[in-house]
Parts: sequence; structure tokens; C-alpha cells
Amino acid sequence: MLDIKITRTSAPKAKPTGKLGFGRIFTDHMFMMNYTEGIGWHDARIEPYHKLEFAPSCMVFHYGQEMFEGLKAYKGENGKCYLFRPDMNAKRTNATNDRLCIPHIPEEDFVQAVKAVVSIDKDWIPTEPGTSLYVRPFIIATDEYLGVAPSKEYLFIIILSPSGAYYASGLEPVGIWIEDEYVRAVKGGMGFAKTGGNYAASLIAQVKAHDSGYAQVLWLDGVHRKYIEEVGSMNIFFKIDGKIVTPMLNGSILPGITRNSVITLCKDWGYEVEERLVSVDELLEAQKNGKLEEVFGTGTAAVISPVGKLRFMDDVMVIGDGSIGEVSQRLYDAVTGIQTGKVEDKFGWRFEVE
Ligand SMILES: *Cc1c(COP(=O)(O)O)cnc(C)c1O
Repeated sequence: MLDIKITRTSAPKAKPTGKLGFGRIFTDHMFMMNYTEGIGWHDARIEPYHKLEFAPSCMVFHYGQEMFEGLKAYKGENGKCYLFRPDMNAKRTNATNDRLCIPHIPEEDFVQAVKAVVSIDKDWIPTEPGTSLYVRPFIIATDEYLGVAPSKEYLFIIILSPSGAYYASGLEPVGIWIEDEYVRAVKGGMGFAKTGGNYAASLIAQVKAHDSGYAQVLWLDGVHRKYIEEVGSMNIFFKIDGKIVTPMLNGSILPGITRNSVITLCKDWGYEVEERLVSVDELLEAQKNGKLEEVFGTGTAAVISPVGKLRFMDDVMVIGDGSIGEVSQRLYDAVTGIQTGKVEDKFGWRFEVE
């Protein structure tokens, strides 16, 4: 149990009105906790949201030793406040920390910290359909040192951002660019870790995709440039000839919590689910034969993001009829229903925040 010292703001900000968008508005408070070698994690506290000051020599600025997480808080119709599977974010935090030589945070402390700061700012959870409070925990290396080594000091911070409905009008299928020049990660690298470096490496392809009129990049494996890995900040699923197929976790793919939830739900509904290698050639073939029935991304931000078009070099695969597929819609309804308390939570995924 963390002993969290709470300092409330004396100047609460006005809550946003109108369109929320994503990631630009922050609530009144933030959680912080320090790590010092020899002492461990200490000084857990909630303070008014404020700017931070660091020396220019602060390690995170130079070698990118940092990690982050992302989850959401929802307000149910009954007025209750829920988190979706924060225990999974806690587990993944420590998997990421291991890879980046960042000390573990006890899972229960991580969940306690998220609950505490969300609880203080729960009036900031928007209630319009599709909206939520985005929770961004992150850790940075704070030693003032230019040598290359794991930092001896860290800061764990949680900030909160009310976010708008991902889709302005229903779930619109997006176009995806299968990247054939750059790669995101390789086995042995940090692909499975949620860390900024992976995103820094991905920006160039995202710019390229946007310039060509595509919403997101789909990455191929870094060795063969042949097997599907994942989309920008989402995992990817295909419905091929009635089966649900997704790339297996191989060390270079981020193990999404939405991915895990979707696999669990599909199995529960009686679908055959295959986690395996999926090549671009297999997709092209399936599409030619009319067997590529649905494609969708999964991630905390969009939950389910239907894909209507996949481009690979000179080939453009059009999927479906421009509207969301049946399984994609069913999954969206099921996951968001559990998140907001509308649907029975038979897997124990919903955590109430008092
Ligand atoms: C966070 C993330 C995902 C999705 O994970 P969720 O836990 O479902 O939000 C997928 N890919 C990458 C690269 C990510 O950073």
C-alpha cells in the first residue's frame, strides 16, 4: 500500500466544453512518485497539475530511458466510475521496465496510484457516448549524467486527459499503408515494450503514409519484410474464411490489452482464433478469393478500428463495402459495453473507482 500525500489545487480549472479531441487538455491533478537507488520508490503524492523543471543533463533527454502506459476511465450511466483492466497495464509496465532497466513498480501500487488520481479528478470524466478520461502513466530517467548507463533515479508520473469520441460519426473504416521501406522493431529489440523510442522510430513512415492519403502504417517484420506485425498504436486482426486471425506475439509486437480482450471474447463466442504468422501474400491471396472478410485494429484509443483499405506497394486491397464488419461492430459494442457498465462483466475486467 502506498501512502499517498494529497495536495488539492486551490484554483480548479474550468472543465472543457465542446469538442474534446485527444491529448491536449489536462485535469487539475497529477500523481508523482520518485525512485532513488538504495531507497526504492518513495514520496507518492498527488499534486495540482504543474510544469516540471529538469537539468539539461537529465538522462531521459539524451538516451530515451522512459516508458509509458495508456488506459481509460469511464463514467457509467449509473454515475459510477470504472477503469478497464488496469492490472494488465501494471503487469505490462513491469515487462517494459525489465527491458529498459527501470525498476519494477509493485502491481498493486500502480493500480492504487491510478485509482487515487482518477478518483480525485473523477468530475473530469466526460459522459457523452464514446468519451472517456485517458490515463497516461509514464516513467522517466532523471539522473543528471551524460554517461550511458541505467539511471539511478526515476520519476513515475500519471496525468489525465479528457478525450473525445474517436469516431465523429460511427465507426468509419480507415485506409492502412503497409510499410515496405522502414521497420519498427525486430525480435531482441524493444517492440514488445511500451516506450517512446518505438514511436520515434515510427514517425517517418507515418508521415509517408499520411502524405499518400493513408491514416495509419502497418508494419512488417524487420527480418523477412513479409509477415504482418501491427498498426501504429494498435494490434491487427483479420477475419479470413470465418476464422479470426492475428499475428502471434513474437517479441517485436506490443501485447495489447484490447488484443487480449478481443481474443478472449471471440473464443467465448465460438470463433476459431489463430495467433500465428500472417504474411502479406496470404492476405493478397485471401482478398483475391473473396475470403478476407474483415480487418480491424485494436487499441485503447479507438477500441476497434475497422480497416477498409490496405495498400502494399502496387496492390490496394479493398475490404468490405465501406461500412464496419459484423464481428468488428459486435466487438466494439461488447468491449465498450463492459467498459461503461452497460454489459455484464463476466471476465472481471471492470475496476470501480470510488
Ligand atoms: C499501446 C499499444 C498498442 C495497443 O495496446 P492496448 O493495450 O490495447 O491499448 C498496440 N501497439 C502499440 C505499438 C502500442 O503502443
